Amino acid sequence: MNRKTANESPHAKLPGRLYRKQARWWWNVQLPGDKSSRSRALKPQGARCATTDRQLAEEIAFHLWQEAVRAEARAAARTEQVMRMQRLRLHFREKLKALRDVIASAEARAEAETAERLTLEVKLNSLRNQLTQMSPCESCGRSVPQSELQLIDSGQRLCRSCLDDLRRATQRQPSQVQRAEDGTQGTGLPDRRDIHGSDVLYAQTGSR
Ligand SMILES: [Zn+2]
Repeated sequence: MNRKTANESPHAKLPGRLYRKQARWWWNVQLPGDKSSRSRALKPQGARCATTDRQLAEEIAFHLWQEAVRAEARAAARTEQVMRMQRLRLHFREKLKALRDVIASAEARAEAETAERLTLEVKLNSLRNQLTQMSPCESCGRSVPQSELQLIDSGQRLCRSCLDDLRRATQRQPSQVQRAEDGTQGTGLPDRRDIHGSDVLYAQTGSR
């Protein structure tokens, strides 16, 4: 083989093996992108046969090698691009999922807050109703706000005025009123007519 030295040829460091077959130049090489090494005829552009010129053969080989390197680089870039797109897609999907989770939890929180507010409103309304609802005093029969009625031991609900009367009466006749209050005698409290400032009536009530 008529090999040139590294100093003589700029292509001396080409990979593979240049060889002659019937005076024509061939190249056995594994180029980037090849699965294994194979032989190729080093044909000048447009020619049907490999060249017989060693220097031209090296130039053709160098050109083929450059092309293969570029093609490999393009393929690698495409692969990298595809992988980057896949990573981006995955990243985007995760972001989207996280965003959906945020929205879902915000919606859940809003729903919970709405439910809580409704419950609170119902409670407030019922409280307001209790405060403003009128009921008759079970002693004088006067209609007063329910919140003002006081439950006494006998189970009756009295207005403040009747309660005050009862207290005054209790101070005067503790034993009899006590009997009336705890319901050990009669039906409990007398009605307002009876309570009104009369000791005598208490005595009557006690005997009822
Ligand atoms: Zn009353």
